[in-house]
Amino acid sequence: MKVLKYSRQREAIKASLMNRCDHPTADALYASIREEFPNISLGTVYRNLNLLVETGEIRKLSCGSGADHYDGDVSPHYHFVCRECGHVYDMDIQEMDELNAAVQSHAPGHIDSHSILFFGQCQSCMDMENPRKDQKTIDKTA
Ligand SMILES: [Zn+2]
Ligand SMILES: [Zn+2]
Repeated sequence: MKVLKYSRQREAIKASLMNRCDHPTADALYASIREEFPNISLGTVYRNLNLLVETGEIRKLSCGSGADHYDGDVSPHYHFVCRECGHVYDMDIQEMDELNAAVQSHAPGHIDSHSILFFGQCQSCMDMENPRKDQKTIDKTA
């Protein structure tokens, strides 16, 4: 029955990831999956996530710093990563297939896909930094 249990957990992990669009880390996903499977270990979550990545059912995003993020949406799309809070956002833009052809002559082999991360500061972090940007502040330097 070990295989059955393993599969049930994997399906739950996958379903949990599909139901959110915030590209969680394994730790974040582990926290929510534990509500359904209190005895599940972080190692099991990692193992199943890697298995799902290998089979192409989910995708892993390495954003340069910190933990990897996971995406239940495997269709081609670009991401925006906030340097401030580390949140990974989907970008509503068609993937540019012409980019493959544009750089093909520079590649040491045949290009069939690409993946791009854009970095910056997200709107909510900007709002937090300037909470009263609409209000006029009194100039004290005069
Ligand atoms: Zn942010
Ligand atoms: Zn995504």
